[in-house]
Amino acid sequence: MIEKFYVSDLTRIKVNFIMVTVEMKGVYMMELIASFSVDHTAIIPGIFISRQDKVENGIVTTYDIRLKRPNKEPAIDVAAMHTLEHIIATFLRNEPDWKDEIIYWGPMGCLTGFYLILKGSRQPNEIYELILRAFQSVENAESVPGATPENCGHYLMHNLGMAKWYAGEFSDYLTLNSKNPDIFHYPKTERLITDDKKHFYDS
Ligand SMILES: [Zn+2]
Repeated sequence: MIEKFYVSDLTRIKVNFIMVTVEMKGVYMMELIASFSVDHTAIIPGIFISRQDKVENGIVTTYDIRLKRPNKEPAIDVAAMHTLEHIIATFLRNEPDWKDEIIYWGPMGCLTGFYLILKGSRQPNEIYELILRAFQSVENAESVPGATPENCGHYLMHNLGMAKWYAGEFSDYLTLNSKNPDIFHYPKTERLITDDKKHFYDS
């Protein structure tokens, strides 16, 4: 169970309290992990840490794999998004060096990117090569794995051609920007409230 509380405006710090079950004692302990707010008006494509959560035996890290600038360019076509989800999930779950580290891969509801959850607390540049190869695997795909009524909730809603186009665009971007630190660090804000009184939220 995860609950979020907002500390007073005076401190302007957002924290996440995570309930961790301690089975031996049968009681709940609270762990505190510092978090931050992201200014979505300043996001560029890249590989970013979204959050880190403490679990029983360590840390899990959620990454935002952001392909599109939120609200500044068209979001990804939904059928292509679905195809990217299938092909990259298959790639990650079969990659010999990484498959045991993968917890989850799935699309953002806003259709501007994907969530990747990994065991551990690696920095985004440490998964750059994995993400680049994942998108390159889409460019090389000849079919969509799992696009059958037995394996998929909407198996006709795929678009391999457009998925390849988005994958090529993003892998070219990552290659061009491999030395650009901005593709690994979100525009954080310590403000919880903008100048015009709007609140930041987790995406
Ligand atoms: Zn599906």
